[in-house]
This record gives sequence, C-alpha cells and structure tokens, in this order.
Amino acid sequence: MKYISTRGSSERIDSSEAIINGIAGDRGLYVPESIPNLPVGLEELKGMSYKEIAKMVLGAFFTDFSKEQIEYCVNSAYDDKFSKDDAVGFTKTKEAFFLELYHGKTAAFKDMALSILPFLLTESIKMQGSDKKICILTATSGDTGKAALEGFADVEGVDIIVFYPNNGVSTVQERQMITQQGDNTHVFAIEGNFDDAQTAVKDIFTDSEFAKEIGALGYKFSSANSINIGRLVPQVAYYVYSYAKLLSSGQIKAGDPINVVVPTGNFGNILAGYYAKNMGLPIAKLICASNENKVLTDFFETGVYHLDREFYLTSSPSMDILVSSNLERLLFNLSGNDGAQIKNLMKSLDENKRYEVSPEIKKGLSEFYAGFSNSEKGAQNIKELYDTEHYLMDTHTAVAYSVYKDYKKNTGDDTDTVIVSTASAYKFAESVAAAIGSLRGKDGFEDLKNLSKHTSTEIPCCLRDLDKRDVIHGDVIKVGEMRKAILNCLK
Ligand SMILES: *Cc1c(COP(=O)(O)O)cnc(C)c1O
Repeated sequence: MKYISTRGSSERIDSSEAIINGIAGDRGLYVPESIPNLPVGLEELKGMSYKEIAKMVLGAFFTDFSKEQIEYCVNSAYDDKFSKDDAVGFTKTKEAFFLELYHGKTAAFKDMALSILPFLLTESIKMQGSDKKICILTATSGDTGKAALEGFADVEGVDIIVFYPNNGVSTVQERQMITQQGDNTHVFAIEGNFDDAQTAVKDIFTDSEFAKEIGALGYKFSSANSINIGRLVPQVAYYVYSYAKLLSSGQIKAGDPINVVVPTGNFGNILAGYYAKNMGLPIAKLICASNENKVLTDFFETGVYHLDREFYLTSSPSMDILVSSNLERLLFNLSGNDGAQIKNLMKSLDENKRYEVSPEIKKGLSEFYAGFSNSEKGAQNIKELYDTEHYLMDTHTAVAYSVYKDYKKNTGDDTDTVIVSTASAYKFAESVAAAIGSLRGKDGFEDLKNLSKHTSTEIPCCLRDLDKRDVIHGDVIKVGEMRKAILNCLK
C-alpha cells in the first residue's frame, strides 16, 4: 500500500515515510491509494479483542511494517495505561450504545491514537534510517496537546512542542499540559484561537527555509495532529471493535447496519469511521455532530464551505474549530482521487475563505447526516441522562447525543446506534457540575471533587491532584513568535 497526497503531487511513498513527514510537500494530506478491505469476514469479528482488531486494521493499512512490528506497537500502546481490559468501554443506555474512548492516560479519546503514534514513529525512523532527530509540532484545541505530550515524553530522539490557544481550553486541560514532565516536552499558549495555531503550524511545516534552519540543529519536523496518517488509522480500529461488541452480545447479526454519531472538530475521528465503512463495515449513517461552530453542518447541507462567520468559544472547546483539516481527505476520496480538484478547493479556501464542491462530491456527502447543538441543549441532556440513568457524559459527547436525539426525531430511524464518547465528564468538570446541579467550587479543581461527591463516581486517576502539581511551562507568545520559540527549544 502506497501513500499519496490529497493535492495531486507525484509523491508516492510507504506509510513509514508518510508517518515521519506528517504532511505532504504540497501541503496536502497523505492518504492510502485505496482503502483496504477488512481482512476477515464480519462473522469472524465476534469475540475479537481490541488488540486483535487493532493489529488487523493497522496491518491492512501499514503494509511496509512487519507483523512483528505491528504487534510490538499495538501491545506497547494498549496496555495497562488504559483502565479497561479492552482499552475502551462500551455502555448501553436507553437511546444508544456509548463507545467510551476516554479510559487512557489523559481522559480523552486522543489517547487511542497518541498512545500508539510514538511507537509507529520510532519504528518508521528505524525503517527509513533517518539520521535526524524528530521535532513534533502540535497545535491543540486542548486534548491532543496533553495526549501527545504523554505519548512522546522522554521518547528517545524526539522533541515535542505544543501550542494551545490562550484562554481557549478548560482549566483541567491547561493544567494537564503546563505540568507536563519530560526534558523533551515544550508547551506554549498562543494569543489566538485553535485555527490560528493550526494554520501557523502548517505554514511552519511547509516552510523549506525554516526546515533548513532546524536541519542545521539536527532536526526534522513531524506532526502529532490528525493530519498525520499515523494518527488516523489507529482510530479505525474502535469502529470495527464496536461492531464486534454488538455482534458478540447478540444485539446484531453479521451484516446488520449500525449508525455512528461523532462529536466533530477537525474531522479526524469521523473520517476514521468513514474509512471503517469503506473497509466493509456495515455503517449506514455517519452522523456528524457540531457545536455552535457549525461550519460542517452548513457544508453538508449546501456543499459550500465558508469561513466568513463568527467564532464561538463553547463548553465543548475541543470542537471549537472552523478549519476542519481532515475534511480534505474525504473530499479527495469522493472526487475519485482527483488531487488537482482538491488543490483548487483548498486554494479557494485560502484566498476567498470559501469553496463549493462539485456535484459529484456533493452526491457523496449524502452518506453523512450533519447536525449541531448548543451548550444549553447539551447541558440539559447531560442532566437528563444523569437523572434518568445515572450515566455521566461530558460536554462533547453531549453534543453528539443531542444531535442524535434530533436525528431520530426527524427521521424515525431506529437502527442500532453507537455514540462516540470522546472525553471523561471530569475533564470538563466545571460545565458538567453546572449542568447536573452539583455544588460549585471556587475553581475547576474543586469542581472535580464536588462532581465526584455528588455522583458517587471516581475521579480518573490522571486528573487527581492536578492542582498540586508543579507548573513547568507558562509562556504566552504571539503567533509571529512561534518560529523563534521553536529554535530556542531545539538549541
Ligand atoms: C479532539 C476532540 C474532538 C474532535 O475530534 P476530531 O477528530 O477533531 O473531529 C471531540 N471531542 C473531544 C473530547 C476531543 O478531544
């Protein structure tokens, strides 16, 4: 399997090289030339463990890795770092099944991919024989940053630098990042929002002059954002796993369709669901849930993507995104791998802040249903689900749940549905405590404790005593100062 760019350059490389590069030379994203089929029949998924499924999926996409390398990566990633035997949780409620992806080290779903990316990357470096150290640059809307820092802390031959929007992440998210240990970790708040950080990081990645400067210091850039194909592919596994769980429990028979609902920001998570569907997993509707920043809802409705709109800070900050990077991969696929067409769309986005897709692509969008919710509706649903079933969900998952309830009401579709649950309620304790009416503390840290008392549930161990840890990183910089900050970290 070879990897190519979504913007049509002639690059055609192995997955290990794509994982190291992070982003293609023409600023496109690496995609597999075709999406492989599931290597086993649906019936055979019954009873497979998370690790077995992850090995199967990774093996199908990353064909330049040996079987032993894939086994090593999967076994090293999904071990007791996760508080569930099978890495993820799967809980049935009255309305739907919740696929809980937040039982890893940082209490959000980013752990699913970022626990394995460091192993994939170090194996890739061995295969490609690179003589340079890797500098991971990461823009984060809050959760990627910490998960990447945890994953890469003290990994030999790698430095990691994280940029997050100042005042744009939750108290817990910020504290998780600025208390990160490890000599190779660096964290900066930037004056701007997530899109500013992500655009600047993409600029730096593709700045060949700057690449020479850091090259002289012995470094080469790579990415831990979901633009890296090494982050996307591991996420395909949990969709397959959901199906296996539903089969094993007798809820569905092999071949029965399911729907999935994904709280969406950068479009990475839901794109992994789309890849799973293209591998042959019977997913009927992919339901794309947005918060008040509903650029994707509008896009799926009209075929026009437009950025000229207000940006809202919401109670689901990890979804406060207007430029959804991974959408580019979907468009490439729907265009029949027409890189020239995608290049034009992205040029139009840069220059005119909008693009309109071709009728062919627009037709393909109908595999998706898109909807949005707001913080208030999310809070009501958090309370309702807690009051009626004693089940706690976080603010991002609540966006998905709210959109799903609307979807069901509007369509009458009662297909078995999996809601992708992306964070622990404790990670957004301030909003969740307010929603369910638990006593409010003087800050986010007291809210953690109050939430635990009020609900008789446990604070995930990675979030306990966060307020007592030493703050190690505290710099706030301007977007224009990012290059200088990077050079200082690597000198
Ligand atoms: C990152 C994140 C999302 C959005 O996922 P994308 O892959 O960017 O669409 C949703 N919820 C939480 C909690 C997240 O951390």
